[in-house]
Amino acid sequence: MFCGRQSKSPYYVTSRDFKEDCVFCHIVQGGNGGKDRILYKNERVAVFEDIRPAAATHLLVVPIHHIANTDSLETHDFELVKEMHEVGEKVLLEHCRPGAKFKFGYHQPPYRSVDHLHLHCFELPHSSLIKNLKYCIPSVWLSCDDLLKRLKNQ
Ligand SMILES: [Zn+2]
Ligand SMILES: [Zn+2]
Repeated sequence: MFCGRQSKSPYYVTSRDFKEDCVFCHIVQGGNGGKDRILYKNERVAVFEDIRPAAATHLLVVPIHHIANTDSLETHDFELVKEMHEVGEKVLLEHCRPGAKFKFGYHQPPYRSVDHLHLHCFELPHSSLIKNLKYCIPSVWLSCDDLLKRLKNQ
């Protein structure tokens, strides 16, 4: 087990390092307005508001380390993905009206917005369905449960 981890670590470390040209890497470190935008942060994940909100409340949960997208996740990321959902729900509950309906999900490659994994967290309804189709089309949208199932079966 230990040896397996060792041999994997060089790849793991370099591929998930801070990326100079990644806007979310800067935000989680407090740059790019992150200092004022971050609503929650621990050693693994950070939460901030989407700069183009598509609902009454629209938050993004991102891993602190740079992970490009859902295809870059591995089985050992199961706990991280679970935590992203839990943290997103917790912060939404703190910011939304009581009884609000929530929606969570990831973009699927090849759909691209920012190339740093992020979980979209909405307080429904969407502000405009047409404008926000990208958050509703199943082929480009992946729920937390489906992603967790996929990681487990990888
Ligand atoms: Zn990044
Ligand atoms: Zn996005």
